[in-house]
Amino acid sequence: MLPVEGVAPSALVDTFNEGRPGHRHEAIDILARRGSRVYAVDDGKLVKLFTSVPGGLTLYQFDPDGNLAYYYAHLDRYADGLKEGMPLRRGDLIGYVGSTGNAAVEAPHLHFAVFRLGPQRQWWKGQPINPYPALLRARPAG
Ligand SMILES: [Zn+2]
Repeated sequence: MLPVEGVAPSALVDTFNEGRPGHRHEAIDILARRGSRVYAVDDGKLVKLFTSVPGGLTLYQFDPDGNLAYYYAHLDRYADGLKEGMPLRRGDLIGYVGSTGNAAVEAPHLHFAVFRLGPQRQWWKGQPINPYPALLRARPAG
């Protein structure tokens, strides 16, 4: 499922291979109004609520098999009641679009990434996968 309310697949831009200062982007930026609802794209588990300098307010979710991690960044705030380790269902409200971290204040967006996890299932480490083809086929949220 698409992670941001009110965004159609046709509005998505594939920014996976774009350059960013010092690295490849390896994620999709989904532009939306500040405060737009962000939803879990899949079932699984909320693994980590983490604040970082580049990502701002972020959330890491694993898929049900623990093979994939979904990373949501630049959130304005989290949804109420989130706890690390809690199960998530596809479509659960997890937060709101913002520009925390290194996102431009005038361009709030969700930075969304997918990683294939290694055998140790570390939330901070994985092989990036371009989510764009799957999101093109995903159903809109909200
Ligand atoms: Zn980004």
